[in-house]
Parts: sequence; C-alpha cells; structure tokens
Amino acid sequence: MHSIALRTRFLLDETARLAQLHGRAAGAVTLVGVSKTHPAGSIREAAAAGLQHVGESYVQEALSKIALLTDLPVTWHFVGRLQANKTAAVATHFDWVHAVDRLRIAERLNEQRPADKAPLQCCIEVNLSGEESKGGVAPDALPALAAAIATMPRLQLRGLMALPAPTDDPALQRAPFARLRGMLEALRHTHPGLDTLSMGMSADMEAAIAEGATLVRIGTALFGPRAVRAATAGSEHA
Ligand SMILES: *Cc1c(COP(=O)(O)O)cnc(C)c1O
Repeated sequence: MHSIALRTRFLLDETARLAQLHGRAAGAVTLVGVSKTHPAGSIREAAAAGLQHVGESYVQEALSKIALLTDLPVTWHFVGRLQANKTAAVATHFDWVHAVDRLRIAERLNEQRPADKAPLQCCIEVNLSGEESKGGVAPDALPALAAAIATMPRLQLRGLMALPAPTDDPALQRAPFARLRGMLEALRHTHPGLDTLSMGMSADMEAAIAEGATLVRIGTALFGPRAVRAATAGSEHA
C-alpha cells in the first residue's frame, strides 16, 4: 500500500483512539485531510483509504483539484483565510468554511451560496493571540458576529475554529484549545445548535482532541511535507 493510504488508515484509527483515551464519544472527532500544495492524485489515494473530508487553503488550487475529483464522495472544507474577491468560488464549490472572521465575508458567502445546495456550514475563526496580523475575530467581537451569521439563511453556523501559535510543549498546547472550548460553551447559551470545534493540526492533534476538537485539520502527517510555495503565488496566501 502507498504511504498516503497507510497514513490515512493510521490517522483514522489514531483520532478514534485518542478520542477514546480522552473520554470523548466514539465518532466525536472527524479527520479533515488538508491537501494544500499536494496533487489531486494524493487526495484520490487518501479517499480510497477511507478519508471522507478534505481541506484546502488556496482557492485557485482547490478549484482545479475539485474539478478533477468530482467522482469522489468527499466533503470539501475551505480552511484558509478568505478574501472577499474569492467568496463566490468558495460558496459554490465547498461544503464547509472554517475561517469566517468578518461580517463582510459572511454576507458575501450568504448571498453567493447557490439555492440548490444545502446551507454552507461555517465556523468563525477566533484570534486567540491578540496579534492583529493574524486572522480571526477578536474574542470580544465574537458574540456579535455569531448573532449576525445565525440570521443568514444560506449559512449554517456550526462552531469555532482557531490556529494557535505553534509550541512543542503539550501542556502549553492545551491552554488555547481550552479557551476556544470555553468560548463555544458560552455561545451555546444563545446558539444551542453549535456543535463544532475545528482545532488541532499535525503537531498538536492530541492536545486539541483532549480539549474537545470535533474537526482536526491534518496536513503534513497525512500527505507529507509541503514544498514551499512559489513567491508568484503569494497573492493567495492563507
Ligand atoms: C495547512 C493547514 C493545516 C494543516 O497543517 P499541518 O501542520 O500540515 O497538519 C491546518 N489548518 C490550516 C488552516 C492550514 O492552513
């Protein structure tokens, strides 16, 4: 078996094992394989090995792969930062958007989601570090953004997403994930249908699962290392 197939099988088992280890319900954690920079053939291999959820971060790159893989029974997640001029493509071709972080983006996705598709499943990205250069809504602006999105008929608000600063220390890894979980719990008082925490990547997957992740976004550990993107593609950075 090819290594992508082996790693897919391993990660599907590993997410289930870690969920059980940390007292989570069976099936509570869904593996989203993040395939940015990797070719469509790699996604096909992972899907053949059981991957059902695929994440992409760059719109143009994702559209060409989605067009090659229309026969695959996978759910497409847009996990990157979204620019206003790319919302129509994302609203049309994806099932989930993980990093909605401002009203204008939500409004455009709501207007552009095709009527013949289910509402676009959305998470709000929260900026946990306070660094303005980072994506995500500030925690104190989160309730207002959630309330606005909850009124949009073509979007279904599902929960929260975060990308904490990397650290190798498992104890330090858990703290921001615990904060995000607390924010979701607080929001559930007014939005009881929220059920999603998109958190955890290759290096901090266990910490995220321990703190309640329902979607883990795994790139390197599944598809292998990424080549550095060419500078000419820089206009589309996540
Ligand atoms: C690339 C990416 C990932 C996957 O990261 P790995 O460290 O390779 O697992 C997860 N989430 C987002 C938003 C990404 O852009």
